[in-house]
Amino acid sequence: MPELPEVEVVRRGLERWVAGRTVASVEVRHPRAVRRHLEGADHFVAALTGRTLTAARRRGKYLWLPLAEPDGTAVGQALVAHLGMSGQLLVEKPSQPDETHLRARFVFTDGGRELRFVDQRTFGGLAVEDTADDEGAAPGALPPRLRHIAIDPLDPSFDEAGFSAALRRRRTEVKRALLDQTLIGGVGNIYADEALWRARLHGNRPTDRLTRAQVHDLLEGVRDVLGEALAQGGTSFDSLYVDVNGQSGYFSRFLAVYGQGDRPCPRCGTPIVRESFMNRSSYSCPVCQPRPRSSAARSRRS
Ligand SMILES: [Zn+2]
Repeated sequence: MPELPEVEVVRRGLERWVAGRTVASVEVRHPRAVRRHLEGADHFVAALTGRTLTAARRRGKYLWLPLAEPDGTAVGQALVAHLGMSGQLLVEKPSQPDETHLRARFVFTDGGRELRFVDQRTFGGLAVEDTADDEGAAPGALPPRLRHIAIDPLDPSFDEAGFSAALRRRRTEVKRALLDQTLIGGVGNIYADEALWRARLHGNRPTDRLTRAQVHDLLEGVRDVLGEALAQGGTSFDSLYVDVNGQSGYFSRFLAVYGQGDRPCPRCGTPIVRESFMNRSSYSCPVCQPRPRSSAARSRRS
């Protein structure tokens, strides 16, 4: 599943290859790809045809491209994309053969490279959404459906003090809090485990007992992990593919704990432990990240 740095790589690719271009035609090849556009595929096509995609923006794992008339007048709508589990946005020459799982194709008036939405599992999707409300139709205004998603720590306007206070008010475990998109944007399972390892915190630690310094270390961990992944993903910026794939090789090279069960902790050499977590896995070092006493006691009793 694409995580935040990979979605940011896609955003940069879209900004470079797609922003400023005007849509000549749209072909929806699978209705599921536009299921979040409630008025249906024909309406989706009509809403985009003849419109210019002015920029590429991101909130969490959502991308949105504000729409304008070709003369630059904003129309108060945006193309919103979510990659789901397996979605890809590819920029390709029209002569390139169609992908097996091609779901939607955008052809531009300049006759140049097409934008293709390819999604094997069709959990991702595209929609045209209104951006206008109290913010007016300002270019780039955030579609209302995305406003509940917290700003992520790669965003310069991320509010560290606000995050720290909100986290410590929650009565939950710290890994659950990291995955809560209303609290912090775009941190998935892998980055959560890596950030917790850097901050030397077990994911079961109760948030209301973390110190301010621990929250600060955790946030530094999140920023470092995301920043490194972004730097690694940067190798694809210059390729013609605006490509994202959770399995890509660059992704795994720097992982300290995630997927490293029984391998030595890079810090202390203790074998990394895998535990089940919300139908998935959590990886941690039992020495660097001791379980909190209360949850250790609970698991002994059960
Ligand atoms: Zn360790």
